[in-house]
Amino acid sequence: MGLLIRGGEVVTSDARYRAEIYVEDQTITRIGADLSVPPGTEIIDATGKWIFPGFIDPHVHIYLPFMATFAKDTHETASVAALLGGTTTFIEMCCPSRTEDAFAGYNLWKEKADGRSACDYAFHMTVSRFDQNTETQLREIVRDGTTSFKIFLSYKNFFGVDDSEMFQALTLAKELGVIVAAHCENAELISRLQQALLAEGKTGPEWHEPSRPESVEAEGTARFASFLENTGASGYVVHLSCAPALKAAIEAKSRGVRLSIECVLPHLLLDKTAAERAGLEGMQHVMSPPLRDKRNQAALWSAVAAGLIDTVATDHCPFDNEQKLLGRDAFTLIPNGIPGIEDRVSLMYTHGVNRGRMDLHRFVDALSTRPAKLFGLFPRKGTIAAGSDADLVLFDPTYRGTISARTHHINNDYSGFEGFAVEGRPAVVTVRGKVQVRDGSFVGEKGRGQLLRRAPMC
Ligand SMILES: [Zn+2]
Repeated sequence: MGLLIRGGEVVTSDARYRAEIYVEDQTITRIGADLSVPPGTEIIDATGKWIFPGFIDPHVHIYLPFMATFAKDTHETASVAALLGGTTTFIEMCCPSRTEDAFAGYNLWKEKADGRSACDYAFHMTVSRFDQNTETQLREIVRDGTTSFKIFLSYKNFFGVDDSEMFQALTLAKELGVIVAAHCENAELISRLQQALLAEGKTGPEWHEPSRPESVEAEGTARFASFLENTGASGYVVHLSCAPALKAAIEAKSRGVRLSIECVLPHLLLDKTAAERAGLEGMQHVMSPPLRDKRNQAALWSAVAAGLIDTVATDHCPFDNEQKLLGRDAFTLIPNGIPGIEDRVSLMYTHGVNRGRMDLHRFVDALSTRPAKLFGLFPRKGTIAAGSDADLVLFDPTYRGTISARTHHINNDYSGFEGFAVEGRPAVVTVRGKVQVRDGSFVGEKGRGQLLRRAPMC
């Protein structure tokens, strides 16, 4: 049975128009006025709604063994929360540690997600060490359709790679046409600064930011860019958080380095005073790179608006209150992460579009189209066009609500954005033509999501 969506206003990264959309099976087949459709077609009235392409969150953690514990969500809980928030595809960091085998890790992550996600998904494959064996396995993983890598310049001895391994990973990525995402902070400096602060008895969450200051991230960003420049590889800085790192990244872009930039919801909307709150509340707001001095936000917002920052993701990473308290005696033991997979679209619409910080097309571009293009999903995802997957978000701009852990759907007992107002929410969300969310409630099929296999693209 077909599906007809009528009465709404379509908004993509470069166009805005009133039209009807007809979906057959999983695909958009026709867009136009007064479409004639066969009897029995399901009709959804989108009057008063924006119709956006399904949103793509290019940076989330769902299954994650990290800092002596595991992130709280399952693929089932995170994908339902994602859909309620208008995200129809996420790209999860597949993160085996340095001591684990890359291929075993890849298969483990695939197994965890298989049949359990309500929305579509893909992986970035973390390269946490580089040897002969890793290289053979990475080639196999790319052949399997996972065509983006992730490296950590931080998290020494756990996920982190040294410069020699970074060079080898980038060289292989260049040969295979794979983009490399990087967490850019200087591992050695962080480790030294952490030790010095702890030795002075500075153990609370308010010392997390000073242990990895802005210059530490700017150095990592500039070094990554220099390695891209000298290997010819294509790269993507994840969760860029501050003006000095932004300056380093933009300088690299302007001299022709193949570098794209991501920022994440927490750095746009929260600042370091949240992590300076006493006790547990401070710990809830520990992530890396850390929440920064508020003055950085204006630089990030204007770069997002201008498209110099390419994408806005979440770095969704839920650890609950009990887990955060593992770090009660030392900020270095607080599991890093702030959840957000459910909140990105409504918060960016409210605090970006409605506050005049970005226009509607850039909003769609940063949250859907650009991630699709960078990571080999376009035009299957990231736009509304005949032939594209029917991943659609009918967004109600008149909705008013407040974010709270009492009402959210992620599997976590606090929200990083508790009390934030939202103006608008997804009312209806489809995944490849199937209605998964209606009237803001999940009504769909839990295992509908598919692993998206991608071709090399750089
Ligand atoms: Zn992350």
